[in-house]
Amino acid sequence: MKSDFTHIGHAMIIEEYEAKSLVRTTRTSLFSWAEVYLNPYQGCEHDCVYCDGKAEGYYMHDDFGQRIRVKKNAPELLETYFKKQGFFPINREKTSTLTDYFPDLKKSADSTGKGKFILFIGGGVCDVFQSAEKEIKMTRKLLQLAYDYKIPVYFLTKSNLILRDLDLLKKINEDSYACACFTITLADEQEQKIFEPNASTTHERFEAVEKLREEGIHSGVYFYPTLPFIGDTAENMTSIYKTSKEVGAEFIYCWGLTLKPGRNKNQFMNTVQKHFPEYYPKYKELYGNEDKYGNLDSKKFEELELVWPEIRGYKLGYELGLDYSPTRYVPEGRINSNLKLTELLHRLAYLKSFFVKGSRYEIKQLNRSARLLNDLSLDFSAMDNLDYQKLDIDKIVLPYIEEYASSGKSKVLEELEKLSYDSASKYLKSKKDICLN
Ligand code: SF4
Repeated sequence: MKSDFTHIGHAMIIEEYEAKSLVRTTRTSLFSWAEVYLNPYQGCEHDCVYCDGKAEGYYMHDDFGQRIRVKKNAPELLETYFKKQGFFPINREKTSTLTDYFPDLKKSADSTGKGKFILFIGGGVCDVFQSAEKEIKMTRKLLQLAYDYKIPVYFLTKSNLILRDLDLLKKINEDSYACACFTITLADEQEQKIFEPNASTTHERFEAVEKLREEGIHSGVYFYPTLPFIGDTAENMTSIYKTSKEVGAEFIYCWGLTLKPGRNKNQFMNTVQKHFPEYYPKYKELYGNEDKYGNLDSKKFEELELVWPEIRGYKLGYELGLDYSPTRYVPEGRINSNLKLTELLHRLAYLKSFFVKGSRYEIKQLNRSARLLNDLSLDFSAMDNLDYQKLDIDKIVLPYIEEYASSGKSKVLEELEKLSYDSASKYLKSKKDICLN
């Protein structure tokens, strides 16, 4: 079934189709603690110039910004997935399951006992609150299902349309956890409109963060992708970090720009040539390596005397009391100590990669052990020393685990965060950089 209509001044085609699959699992990281995600749409009218979803590797259609494909059977697919996991629609009055006859069954909400997960509604190939959602209301249907099945949710959007669903977000948050985050990278709205032509303005996004926080819903900012020469200036970054703090964001996650060779890079480069011709030759140098993942050439980065945004961002966040990553929420039925330990190891790995240089081997082992603990079905905190030493965890990681196991805290992390701040300050001083302090 197809339907065409015109919306906010640009032609848009909505195309509905029956999808074969919807739900994907993913590894956790400091980016997000969600373990399951889904994209009910393909294509995105926000049409961001830097959008990674346009890269050929994702097999999206050419008119990504004008033709939006909707998986019309997404609610059925999601419900089937929940049922397969052994979950009951605990918040539904009439469930059409055995729980209608044996209400006590509802108490567990999870018949297999494997535990819940955070569901990321959205991903790199669509914004689930793009304006097509006003008409289709697909995201709302999925959110309703998450509420019915008592599943925690995570969003990353550039649209204040998310406020439409405040009622459901509040109910989910009261029940378990809802976190609604915004990508915000450019304080100057003229620049922002060049790169994100059809998204909510920076101001509207900050207003939405404020509203969500006032309602008690978790929210943070993704300063990502940071655009070299344009978004990575001390002025722009300081402004975004300070405003994020003012509106109550809980964290800012900062990361650089990748440009995958092909559609993704070509569209971006054409825009820079048109609107920022002075930076065009520098971008050509910076991304001239044609890295298949879109990473910039770090040697050129140093030659062009750029400042790593992650380092400036870390310093700004530290001074303002803004975390550099979301705090991990532990879903119902999962093992608290294992998941918290996973978070700790990922944080150590991150700080050791950027600020207080750990060896590659150590960083690899920290991340590897984090994944192992994430999936461990035994409660780590209930094991004795000898038991957990039998796990396939490298001895380089064991002291961090032992400290956490004995005290439930990590002084090592606290110290490392302070050391990282000192290291970031020293680096920025050497670059004669101006930001807070
Ligand atoms: S909002 Fe996200 S998915 Fe949509 S165009 Fe922008 S970067 Fe791509």
